Order: sequence, then C-alpha cells, then structure tokens
Amino acid sequence: MNCRNCESVLVLELIDLGFSPPSNAYLSPEDLEKVEVWVPLKVLVCQNCWLVQTLDFHGESDVFTEDYAYFSSTSASWVEHARVFVEKSISELGLGNDSFVIEVASNDGYLLQHFKEKGIPNLGIEPTQSTAQAAISKGIETIIEFLNPDLARKVVTLYKKADLVIGNNVFAHVPDIRGFTDSLAQMLSDDGTVVLEFPHLLKLLQENSFDTIYHEHFSYLSLHSCMDVLSRSGLKIWKVEELSTHGGSLRIYASHTACNPDVHDSVAQLLTTEKDFGLTTDAAYSSLVIAAETLRDEVLNFLISCRTKGLRVAAYGAAAKGNTLLNYVGVKSNLIQMVCDSAPSKQGHYLPGSHIPIVSLETLKKYAPEVVIILPWNLSTEILDILRLNLGNGPRIVRFSPTFQEL
Ligand SMILES: [Zn+2]
Repeated sequence: MNCRNCESVLVLELIDLGFSPPSNAYLSPEDLEKVEVWVPLKVLVCQNCWLVQTLDFHGESDVFTEDYAYFSSTSASWVEHARVFVEKSISELGLGNDSFVIEVASNDGYLLQHFKEKGIPNLGIEPTQSTAQAAISKGIETIIEFLNPDLARKVVTLYKKADLVIGNNVFAHVPDIRGFTDSLAQMLSDDGTVVLEFPHLLKLLQENSFDTIYHEHFSYLSLHSCMDVLSRSGLKIWKVEELSTHGGSLRIYASHTACNPDVHDSVAQLLTTEKDFGLTTDAAYSSLVIAAETLRDEVLNFLISCRTKGLRVAAYGAAAKGNTLLNYVGVKSNLIQMVCDSAPSKQGHYLPGSHIPIVSLETLKKYAPEVVIILPWNLSTEILDILRLNLGNGPRIVRFSPTFQEL
C-alpha cells in the first residue's frame, strides 16, 4: 500500500488489531441472524511524511456504505465546546455580518447554530441525511453531500469563498485526505482561515490509547504530518492549540501559503515536542503494541473475575472507541451483559462484533449493575455524574482505557 498523502510505499507497522466489524455497524435484532463482515484493522506509518494511516483493504467501499447517524447535539459538552470555539473565532478572526463560514461535517448544526445566533452567514456540508435534516430544521442551510473537489467548485460558484472553513473531527475520518484538503483550499478566500480539529497522534502514543483506532478513522495525525498534507494543497499552518477533547486533540489554523501568514511560536514549539518524542523516527512507533497486549490481559482478567463472583456487569456509552477495545479483547455479552447509551437510535440494537445489547438508562437502572464500565473514557467526568445520579454510590465504576482505573 502507498501513503494516502505522499504516495511512498508503506512498510512500518504501528499495530495490527486483527479483524473486527466496522465500529459503527450497530446491529438490529434481525441482523443477528445475518453474516457479519469482519475486516482487517491494521495501522501503518509512512516513513516519508509520517502520516499514520489504516491499511486499505479489498472491498472497502462496500463495508462503509452503512450510514450510521451520530447526532453531535446529544453530547452537552460537545455543544458547549462548539459554542466556546465560535465565540473565540468571531473575536480572534474578526468575523462579522458580511463574513461567510463553511463547516464540513456540520452534523446536526451543533456548531453552526451559534454562528446563526450571531447573525453570521454560514453553510453546512454534511453527507448524512438524518443529521443534515436536523440542521435544516433548525434553519441552517446544509448541502447533503460528501466534500470533494467537484462539490467545492460548486459551492464557490453557488455561494462564495469562505472567510472561515471549519473541519472539526472530520479530517482524520476522510479516506481521500488529498482530495479533501484540496477542496478545503478551494473554498477558502484569499485571506481566509481553515480550522481543523483532530485527535493528536502524540497523545495516542504517549497514553497508548489504541482504542481510538477504528476503521472509519483513516488518519492519525501529528502537527508534523498535518503540515505536510496541507502544504501539498498550498496551505500553511500558522497557529496550533492543544485541546483536551477526544483524549487530546489539536486545533490548527491555516491560510493560503501565498498570503504569507505570520506563524505563531506555538507551531515551532509543538514541532519540537513531537520531534523530541521521536515522531519522525521509527522508534516512537514500537511500544503501542506492547501496551495494547498488557491492557487486553488486564481487562480480560478483571471481567473474568467479575463473572466468577457472579457480579452484574454493564457498560456505558456505545461508542466506536469501546468497540475497538471490546473486539480486540474478545468480550461478549457473557462478560458484559448490556451497554447503556443515551441515543434512542442505538437502543434496541447490538454492538458490532461483541453483540452486547444496547439499552436505555431505565433498563440499566432496573438491572442494578454492580460494576459499570465507562467505554468513551474521554467523556468520563460527564458520564460519571450521570451514573452516580441514576445508580447512586453502590456500583463500582471503572474505565479500561487509556489505563485501567477505578473512578
Ligand atoms: Zn507519506
């Protein structure tokens, strides 16, 4: 396989998580009687541009036709994160009523609604029907399509180039990262700003959070590799911020290289941090697999001991992260009897691979679990509050990742 960014041949392997179903392929009761597709989940490192990426596999496009809808607005902390970002970008980038903002992967309008409130013209691009319709019903103009260079050209013709193009938590999820980046550059005005947020590879490696690896997450970016990707589309990163979201993310600001933006110290500082860690050498990529195997043994031992004691064990949060971990460890519903999720669209379904039933909070309360595992550990604080409020102080609450921890 060749690098999706620079086309070098990929040789170095970061981790091989075996085979698993796509992490968002939730199953209906009828699906349990059908064949479930398990596909390889392997991550490779480009030794030229250092973009870390999942292995391409035969028949990929057939697997990812599933159109599972995650509604961003279901997470209160995520909506708040978006609101704070909107306030900040308006003041720092000097946006006003004559500006134009485009968000790619605008979901249900969780972010653009804040621009709308401020009277700043905006447009969403979102391929998922159900979430896009939710945004439209909030009065947010949304194009229901995947972003590619053809669509970017159409947007520029029908609307205009944007002063701010936002891609929060989409950049790492696009298979054609080159075409996507070219599209961002096309839609950007001469002195406009692109803002992207994505999980930081450095954090994944420092904390061994291998469960953030799943099929739909095609790229694992550092500032170093992101700069390389953007520069090939004529974009230059001029500021970077480190965020706590998704276990540690980067927010980068970029403009056309041609407008020669002033580059903040934050860029050189983080590049040095990444270099010091060894992100541009093979060595940094050797320890993740050892940590993953250790955690697998720890999780399995814990769950088997719960089962031996006859404890009622449940999980909270039917997120992609949880699925990678559960399928890698090989957990089934004999070890975790149910997983609670607040999204009604997931309830009544089953987790891919492990086939653990997804239930409502009411069902979880009735079950009165003695142990609850928080799967989306990046939302631990928010979920811990929900669990203590609804289940009291009785059950043990633990999280498995990035390290096994009792909360
Ligand atoms: Zn490369």
